[in-house]
Amino acid sequence: SIPLGYFGGIGAASRNGILLKGSDYLDQLRKMNILFMDKTGTLTEGTFEVQTVTTHNGLSEAEVIAYAASLEQHSTHPIGKAILSFKNGQELFEVEQQQEVSGKGLKGFIKHKEVLVGNAELLKERGVKVTQDNLSEPYTFVHVAVDGEHAGTIRISDKIKEDSKQTIQELRERGIQRMIMLSGDNPDVVSFVANELGLDEAHGGLLPDEKYSLVEQALGKGNTVGFIGDGVNDAPVITLADVGIAMGGIGSDATVDTADVVIQTDQPSKVAKAIDISRFTHKVVW
Ligand code: ADP
Ligand code: MG
Repeated sequence: SIPLGYFGGIGAASRNGILLKGSDYLDQLRKMNILFMDKTGTLTEGTFEVQTVTTHNGLSEAEVIAYAASLEQHSTHPIGKAILSFKNGQELFEVEQQQEVSGKGLKGFIKHKEVLVGNAELLKERGVKVTQDNLSEPYTFVHVAVDGEHAGTIRISDKIKEDSKQTIQELRERGIQRMIMLSGDNPDVVSFVANELGLDEAHGGLLPDEKYSLVEQALGKGNTVGFIGDGVNDAPVITLADVGIAMGGIGSDATVDTADVVIQTDQPSKVAKAIDISRFTHKVVW
């Protein structure tokens, strides 16, 4: 049977906007010593804004944006939303075919030309020579290629959440020995954010299965491993972790369904709160 104190813990959590999918996770939260964290939308706002557009091969800025926005039309990715809101009334092209390339961007056809919108890796693997410009800055660069040529670079910024830095300190005080950020984003952005926050480790340019294997390697060996993320791509790794935490839950998508702990706001500080509740419950029960 479940000790009554656990119900108190689950109730206290829920009053704080933290949903626990069972009393086991109260114990797991208390024991958690390694925490993997997604960057975009978890430690940063995840609301991107287009800063500048650089052109490389004669196409205009407006054309580069039009190609990118056309492919991003139905994208739910924060990058896609940023590009669409930047295009500002400009007409879009008819898209003949469009496909997501997981963790890299989008590819498709417009006016019989192949169009790529995504990171440098996406362009390189399709044989497009990438024109470099100031890439070691803490921005996300979205490259646009048309017909095998690098046509433009869209520089996009995000912001670190207000409570992220404080949260990292609080988690350290609560026994998390290693905090590791995992991201598909530009490695320069990733190390910039990791330095600002004082994380132990950070990996950028990762594909979803690379995130998965990094978490997998940390499991066992007496560790209790947590992962916190918000994206649809994060569902497998949330399932894999001992404590899978979904952030900003609205109740129905795959990420929330597979999570052990759901944080109903977008505040990472709720993880520290959840640990406090799990520790307090433990004292009451034992
Ligand atoms: P994260 O780990 O930050 O959630 P994702 O796996 O969603 O990152 O994406 C990794 C990278 O792939 C992005 O930083 C971006 O460079 C590129 N990318 C992904 N989706 C898109 C998109 N819809 N448009 C442009 N670029 C994209
Ligand atoms: Mg993501």
